[in-house]
Amino acid sequence: MFGLIGHLTSLEHAQSVAEELGYPEYAEQGLDFWCSAPPQIVDTIKVTSVTGETIEGRYVESCFLPEMLASRRIKAATRKVINAMAHAQKHGINITALGGFSSIIFENFNLAQIRQVRNVKLEFERFTTGNTHTAYIIAQQVEQASARLGIELSKATVAVCGATGDIGSAVCRWLNARADVADIILIARNSERLQLLQEELGRGKIMGVEEALLQADIIVWVASMQKGIEIDPNQLKHPCLLIDGGYPKNLSTLVQHPEVYVLNGGIVEHSLDIDWRIMKLVNMDAPSRQLFACFAESMLLEFEKWYTNFSWGRNQITLEKMDQIGQASVKHGFRPLLA
Ligand code: NDP
Repeated sequence: MFGLIGHLTSLEHAQSVAEELGYPEYAEQGLDFWCSAPPQIVDTIKVTSVTGETIEGRYVESCFLPEMLASRRIKAATRKVINAMAHAQKHGINITALGGFSSIIFENFNLAQIRQVRNVKLEFERFTTGNTHTAYIIAQQVEQASARLGIELSKATVAVCGATGDIGSAVCRWLNARADVADIILIARNSERLQLLQEELGRGKIMGVEEALLQADIIVWVASMQKGIEIDPNQLKHPCLLIDGGYPKNLSTLVQHPEVYVLNGGIVEHSLDIDWRIMKLVNMDAPSRQLFACFAESMLLEFEKWYTNFSWGRNQITLEKMDQIGQASVKHGFRPLLA
């Protein structure tokens, strides 16, 4: 059995779906109440591969909300992640993806040092961040969507916002070695980490986001922003491809311009309907077929019986592992979202 640990994008979002999640009493409640809410299994999932095999999974709602980080309720945030992991393990789940901010909190607050959660000794090999598959899917979106739009990668400048992150750095490695891109722009706040990445790649221009927006033909947004930012599409190059892989989204408003194309980043479409309801609650356009690539990673690990923390630690994703999970993705009928 596979598992997915997820969370909603804001308090407002959580209140609006509380009833459907099975918590009618939370709909009127504020952040303090959500801070004390325990994790719950709120969905049972059945997925069938195009190979014909069917597997079963569980969705664990951690009750984490991004406002907990913004308001410095760090203890509540870390408790949510660790308790959700213990909950998944207690229910006998073999491999569970840490969706959205769960893996970021795990890394940022060094939760690997916490092994014991009440009577559960956490076995980290039962968890994966899902970031290898996410990075692979975003790399495919860059290559395939640019071709559709007539943006030639060999002449294109690709900016990665969140370049030094786990997903961002893997996408940069791919762009550097596999896609014949003309230029890469690296965006993040910490300049030391940016320089290290630039050294590793042997290229890439370090730039602030405002300057980068003027120069990029393609922008990959994979920053761990708790709230999206606004951009003016008139400032961008035309055509321009924006791939927003953040959860919550890095872009706060719908960008409307005939020559600016926005793609939901890190999203896959399955070839067959999935029996679940959770993707409807996170407003996926086609909720029975579309899902986050990190969630799909735990499904792939279950299909392949690779019971291992396939994606773990920060900035460890190799091109070989992206190839490996990419082959499994195609084999079981997942494809990158392209429209
Ligand atoms: P990491 O924490 O590893 O990396 C985050 C990156 O964003 C770092 O480079 C960080 O650098 C940068 N960053 C953070 N804030 C800002 C800012 N205000 N301006 C510019 N850069 C910023 O995160 P992950 O790589 O694990 O995840 C990235 C995003 O992808 C998250 O939104 C996450 O929820 C989403 N995600 C999507 C998945 C999917 O399936 N679609 C799966 C997993 C994650 P610095 O701190 O130096 O600024």
